[in-house]
Amino acid sequence: MMTFGYKRATEQDWQQAEQLLRQSKRILAITHMSPDGDAIGSLLGFTHAMRAIGKTVTPACQDKAQMKFAYLPSFNEIRDKANADYDLIVGIDCSDLQRLGSVYQPQLHKHLPILVFDHHITNTYYGTVNIVIGELASAAEVILQLVQRMKIPLAHDIATSLLTGLVSDTQAFRTTSTTAESMAAAMTLMKAGAPLTEIITKAVVTQPFDNIRVLGEGIRNTKMDDGLAYSTISRKLRNELGIKDDRGDGGLVTALINTYEAKVAAVFTENPEGKIEVSMRGRPGYDVSQVALEFGGGGHAPAAGCTLPGPMRDAVNRVVSRLRQVIIEA
Ligand code: AMP
Ligand code: MN
Ligand code: MN
Repeated sequence: MMTFGYKRATEQDWQQAEQLLRQSKRILAITHMSPDGDAIGSLLGFTHAMRAIGKTVTPACQDKAQMKFAYLPSFNEIRDKANADYDLIVGIDCSDLQRLGSVYQPQLHKHLPILVFDHHITNTYYGTVNIVIGELASAAEVILQLVQRMKIPLAHDIATSLLTGLVSDTQAFRTTSTTAESMAAAMTLMKAGAPLTEIITKAVVTQPFDNIRVLGEGIRNTKMDDGLAYSTISRKLRNELGIKDDRGDGGLVTALINTYEAKVAAVFTENPEGKIEVSMRGRPGYDVSQVALEFGGGGHAPAAGCTLPGPMRDAVNRVVSRLRQVIIEA
């Protein structure tokens, strides 16, 4: 089985991370492509924290974040390109170098050290220094530990960004990754002024009507047998529905794994580039992270993903047969 061997960050790793940050002046902070709330929240939380100690930071992401996160301070400062004018690259909530996307340009950035803050057990340790803590529910909690270690005052903008990350990756404290430590982190962030219920409403509960139209069609297309639920969202479907927002599954994979019948769920979404983005979920005891890793992606045991070439039919066949194996072997 393909695995990079998860190893929790040590005290020495942390000291090296702090040293890299202290000696740098200009930081390019990059989060993963197709960003979710933890990607954006931990990216901006890190940005505000480093600016508070005098660093110049450019937050960046290849793809545009969903507008529902526009309430986050400095949301509009996220760039999709970067020049070479930096002395440190920081990769956040991102398990491998490729997933940093087109912001990271080897010809410009190869000579720079990379510092990684992540919580994916599938992390490939692509950094010069890697702070990976797979026991944490969100990258935001990794950044919170950094802020606390460096004794940076937990200002309102940092706290709101980080609580958005934590709330997003736990779907408002409902995932199995939610621990007493996550709740303690949430309390710390609330006490620093992060508005919990407003964040839950904006980041998790409310959504554009188009989302539930995608969801509706996706549910109609769902196949469910022997504990595997899967569905597809093609470009054609999006065009027929006249949907402008061109990414995401509208919450479909979550809806599928939350049915009594499903042990494993997968949604295949054709992205604007014609590639197939696969979102996978497993009930406790069904690890989908290794399947994602085998197909060049990554994630956590209960929630993982990968991106495959089209056409849709081939991607579905490859992944579905592998997921059936996960169910049989469990
Ligand atoms: P999603 O299904 O997009 O909500 O993603 C579930 C988890 O898998 C998240 O932690 C993602 O960061 C991770 N993930 C999704 N797609 C990929 C990919 N192509 N490569 C690596 N990790 C991924
Ligand atoms: Mn993420
Ligand atoms: Mn995350």
